[in-house]
Amino acid sequence: MVIATPHRKIARDLVVLGRFIQLYCDGHHRGEERRAADLKFCRVEDLLGRAPVLCEDCGKLLAHAFFKRLHCPLDPKPACKHCPDHCYHAHYRDEIRRVMRYSGWALIRRGRLDLLWKMLF
Ligand SMILES: [Zn+2]
Repeated sequence: MVIATPHRKIARDLVVLGRFIQLYCDGHHRGEERRAADLKFCRVEDLLGRAPVLCEDCGKLLAHAFFKRLHCPLDPKPACKHCPDHCYHAHYRDEIRRVMRYSGWALIRRGRLDLLWKMLF
């Protein structure tokens, strides 16, 4: 199933996820074999302009995160940490936390608060 045009709010969340995971992979896995993410259920390149280029693990995390976001039954969606029903697989939950922490700080260190702001609000 391809969801061509997810709801705006969801699309925005997917853009943040995609950019954050790309930043994390750039910072940690440049030496590994990486390729453009290709999800069966979502046109990543349409959302992000171009598909993130990721290592295998980050590619799996991206697929997991996108799938979960697209299928979140809660509207409005609470912040994930306040959700009564954590839907991420425990492994990916740890991973995505690491990604968010790293990439959030990476943007702040680079003085790209503007970007962070735009992505979060
Ligand atoms: Zn990676």
